[in-house]
Amino acid sequence: MESVVIDGSKGEGGGQILRTSLALACITGKGLHIENIRASRRNPGLAKQHLACVQAAREISDGRCHGAALSSKVLDFEPGTVRGGNFHFDIGSAGSASLVIQTVLPALFLADKPSRVTVTGGTHNPLAPPFDFLSETFLPAIANAGFEANCKLLKHGFFPAGGGKIMFDIQPWQKSACGGRRTIDLCEPDEQIQIHARIYTAKLPAHIAQRQEKLLLQSKLNIQDIEHIEVTDSDGPGNCVMIRLSGSSPKVGTTVFTAFGMRGKPSHRVVGEVVSLAEDFFARGAGVDRFLADQLLVYMAISKTGCYTTSELSSHLLTNIEIIKQFLPIKFSADEQKRQYKVCCEPM
Ligand code: AMP
Repeated sequence: MESVVIDGSKGEGGGQILRTSLALACITGKGLHIENIRASRRNPGLAKQHLACVQAAREISDGRCHGAALSSKVLDFEPGTVRGGNFHFDIGSAGSASLVIQTVLPALFLADKPSRVTVTGGTHNPLAPPFDFLSETFLPAIANAGFEANCKLLKHGFFPAGGGKIMFDIQPWQKSACGGRRTIDLCEPDEQIQIHARIYTAKLPAHIAQRQEKLLLQSKLNIQDIEHIEVTDSDGPGNCVMIRLSGSSPKVGTTVFTAFGMRGKPSHRVVGEVVSLAEDFFARGAGVDRFLADQLLVYMAISKTGCYTTSELSSHLLTNIEIIKQFLPIKFSADEQKRQYKVCCEPM
């Protein structure tokens, strides 16, 4: 079997190299040998969350692996054939359920039949896409290229307790519809944006959400409404504040920015963080935010086309491009134009 050798210490040096490599191994049927896994992190090697991604990739592809153990820094993965079906993955910690979805979703879109995937773990974790981002930002963006999935939050899970549950229903990829080719084309910012905010609190005193609401209203953003979701089903406490930018074009979903509260972090820092993410996005006038920018690349590579503008070339984005090029004959270009970058994909 042809094998791709990946150095996990290159570029971003974290979990994304592993997840993107697993996803592409499943898609291409190529073997994967990955060394120096998460070498740039404080706790290098496979943590529970990454192990769950490896096991998920193995299960959907009926594959085999060596080195799939906690703290392992080397992994060999040989995918078999990816088949659609019902899958459940339990991370066994507060690790991000979204990142397990990120690993298996591309290959399941290319499977022979629809799939239902449920994942138990964290649903709202710092440094990972919160569930709301997946449902409101990410899925609408990839639907432009014919990747259709629905998702549902079954139970909230916050760090560090975890125990949340999400469910995804995934349809086989429809490359074209109504005789036309479908593509990701997110180069223009939406001109008519409405700004909404959402505050999640779980098992926390009422004054936290009240204070965050007040701070949001004091910001320079013209926030139309603030929704407070008081979570009662989570295993432990949690808090996050979201700013949701919804446009008028059906091509663009709602861009969700999030900042997380935690013990010892004052509300003005939480709200300040999320407000500056949204302000920066407005100031640059790009089509997609920096998180969506790295998450769209695999789908552009599968469809061998696509274009967007974004405010920065994050290390996640650049690393993903390098990994994708090791598996697929694809070219990406990233051209700077007026304080933003236009990223495009085409076949070699
Ligand atoms: P890694 O740091 O390698 O584990 O990768 C983290 C992944 O989570 C990347 O794909 C990021 O784009 C994504 N991510 C991190 N924070 C957010 C956020 N606030 N909203 C959406 N996606 C995020």
